[in-house]
Amino acid sequence: MNEKSPDIPRVFRPQRALPTDVVRPTRAIVDLANLRHNLHVLRQAAEGQAIWAVVKADGYGHGSKAVGRTLERAGVDGLCVALVEEGVELREAGIQLPILVMGGYYGDAYSELVHHQLTVVLQDRGQIEALANAVRRRSAQPIAAHLKVDTGMARLGERQAHWPTFARALRDAPEVRFAGLMTHFPNADLPYPDAIAPELAHFEKATQVFRNEGLVPEVRHASNSAAIFRGTKFDLVRPGIALFGVSPFHDPSPAPLNERAQGLLSRLRPVMSLSSRIVALREIEPGDAVGYGSTWRAPRRARIATVPMGYADGLSRALSNKGAMLVRGRRAPIVGIISMDMTAVDVTDIPQVTMSDDVVLLGSSDDDAGNNAILTAWEVAQNSGTIAWEVLTNISRRVPRFYIGA
Ligand SMILES: *Cc1c(COP(=O)(O)O)cnc(C)c1O
Repeated sequence: MNEKSPDIPRVFRPQRALPTDVVRPTRAIVDLANLRHNLHVLRQAAEGQAIWAVVKADGYGHGSKAVGRTLERAGVDGLCVALVEEGVELREAGIQLPILVMGGYYGDAYSELVHHQLTVVLQDRGQIEALANAVRRRSAQPIAAHLKVDTGMARLGERQAHWPTFARALRDAPEVRFAGLMTHFPNADLPYPDAIAPELAHFEKATQVFRNEGLVPEVRHASNSAAIFRGTKFDLVRPGIALFGVSPFHDPSPAPLNERAQGLLSRLRPVMSLSSRIVALREIEPGDAVGYGSTWRAPRRARIATVPMGYADGLSRALSNKGAMLVRGRRAPIVGIISMDMTAVDVTDIPQVTMSDDVVLLGSSDDDAGNNAILTAWEVAQNSGTIAWEVLTNISRRVPRFYIGA
């Protein structure tokens, strides 16, 4: 394996359906102009802090290569991913920006980290030693790393009791440069003013522990999208969902935000829309059932349209008999159980629906009079009992991404 031949790194290559390979009309449209616009809005919100865009999980489902390249050209300062594999994919796409790998698990891939110049987040002293060894084995220059401290999330990062040994391990590893000290907030999106106060105080304490060992990080960072809009200030910020034009707050006018932040939040533009076409249309009689388990029966004569997107495409099965899709600028309720590849909607109340009419699963649609209806990731999330992040990242690789606004 790699221990024996560190110069031949493994190739990690996740695959996704390409626009040229698909016949089905179901597609995600990714508007890169809106992505650039959101970066601009976030710059204003971040007030001088550097922006390291979070493009994990294939760029929140938007395609991390296209998103990464667009942001690089637009002048973003760095990128963050969760997995080594995701960082390698961006490097292979030619991206030169610093890339921070935040997932906390590196297995035996330290050589790949060094080879691809990925900046790693270290969360215990063992990882500091493993990275130092990989640098020594390759006789490479000291490598930048960010250290993570747990300030209340209890997920990754060293707990308070271990901060002094963590700091000493770093002091004893000259191969590792103290490029950053970071943490992550559990509650930045909660609707009350002091939701992140305990973690902020904790982070200051951690910084002091390192300082006591003579160690000062080049940068400190903690803010996800929600914390940025709350006005938290360190050296850099790590926005994910907001870059993709979706509010990190459940509430449309979140209480803890001041007027300026509220204004900036409302300027975000969704980057992804999802659409398909009706592939079958039928009239059914009162009492006729729709779908597996016959869970929905027509209360009257009904027109049922079949849309070729199902749970294998990332449309949650929890939307069965809940939620809607937009047809001709109107909401067509989802009826029956969502199947793997298809979903039925009731279009009885929408005049003049025909075969091959467009259907919008995320985004906006106009009716004949020009009235606009919008289906947001938050609305879909609420109907399926989840959050906007999961709606976006669930859209599977079977759905091709079409890029506009490049
Ligand atoms: C995912 C993630 C972010 C970005 O969070 P958003 O809420 O999408 O802005 C920032 N930091 C870390 C450590 C993350 O895992």
